Amino acid sequence: MSFFGNVQLAPPVAVFKLSADFRADENPQKINLGVGAYRDDDGKPWVLPVVSKVEKQIASDSSLNHEYLPIKGLPEFCEAATKLALGDSKTISEGRAAGVQTLSGTGALRLAADFLFQTFPAETTVLYSNPTWGNHLDIFKRAGFKNLAPYSYWSGDIKAADISKFVSDLQSAPDRSIILFHSCAHNPTGADPSAEQWNQLAEVVRAKNHFPIFDTAYQGFASGDPDKDAAALRSFADAGFEMMICQSFAKNFGLYNERCGNLVTITQTSQILDNVRSQQELIVRANYSNPPAHGARIVANVLNTPDLASEWRQNIKQMSDRIDLMRNELRGRLEKLGTPGQWNHITDQIGMFSFTGLNPDQCNFLKNERSCYLMSNGRISMAGLNSKNIDYFAQCVDEAVR
Ligand code: PMP
Repeated sequence: MSFFGNVQLAPPVAVFKLSADFRADENPQKINLGVGAYRDDDGKPWVLPVVSKVEKQIASDSSLNHEYLPIKGLPEFCEAATKLALGDSKTISEGRAAGVQTLSGTGALRLAADFLFQTFPAETTVLYSNPTWGNHLDIFKRAGFKNLAPYSYWSGDIKAADISKFVSDLQSAPDRSIILFHSCAHNPTGADPSAEQWNQLAEVVRAKNHFPIFDTAYQGFASGDPDKDAAALRSFADAGFEMMICQSFAKNFGLYNERCGNLVTITQTSQILDNVRSQQELIVRANYSNPPAHGARIVANVLNTPDLASEWRQNIKQMSDRIDLMRNELRGRLEKLGTPGQWNHITDQIGMFSFTGLNPDQCNFLKNERSCYLMSNGRISMAGLNSKNIDYFAQCVDEAVR
């Protein structure tokens, strides 16, 4: 008798299944608009030129070896990453903010969730965005939280974020809830709060004693400028909140499979921070002992070398400019075709995704009949579009909508 005879077949993870279906499709016109990974105008993955340059330096540096990193990761990486999020913040100079290297953004979220579950009362409510990135809920559930509730975000009526409902949901949540924010380039909607709206959110977080945790997977992709994209993080940090920031370097360095991330914690005192990080260290130790080095070396090298850092900013700008161009081109084509409906949201939205407003039937038609692979909630990764496939995609959307 198998020990595992009662184990049920788990459902596939939607976005990875979509990529597998795309790979198996023999239609030469197929388009993958599922996974949030940057593609160049030839539809190819893009190794950032600054990353290639640093990888060559690393390969020829005989002083490097494959010894274990410290449990909390490569110190110069964690420092540079924390500074990228917070800028020249007094939280850093006062020793109240520091990072622990993690297995990309997912690992940062999981480490945060595990630590928060061991520290907060078990009945604490975790509020997440509706809609949100598919993994948020699973990460916090698997960490042990039982009370998870969505906060209102996207309004289908106005095809934009409805921040007043968001604020009132935070208002009516139990005091001292954990609030999971998207710091910029909201996934999947591409709609971010304005600076004024972030202030309103900060006010309610303060009034209700909530704990803010920011998912920062797209710093640089919203505006093309990583500093502008960090505005919400920096305003919360300056306002004196204790908070966490889950950073990913998958998208903005193109280091998807290197699993390079950083969990920043900001506390009231440096003593509290030391205690917190010592506990996070134990969680890492019991999970995977210590993180991988390659991605962290690349990021540290780039961010700590002014010439390379400015080259990196240009690389990001190039990615975000191409995405913006695709937004304009897609909207222009749909309007020219007279496709029923309004399409201004495609250019109003920012970041890697567009929340098209296409319904599940239209998405199924696009996938099954036209080999355009998009998530069934209507999200498309703008980076999957390019000058060669955009005419075809616009025509297919037109057909799907009519
Ligand atoms: N948060 C959001 C909102 C994301 O979209 C992603 C990637 N799809 C992540 C976190 C984490 O990605 P990774 O673990 O690859 O850094």
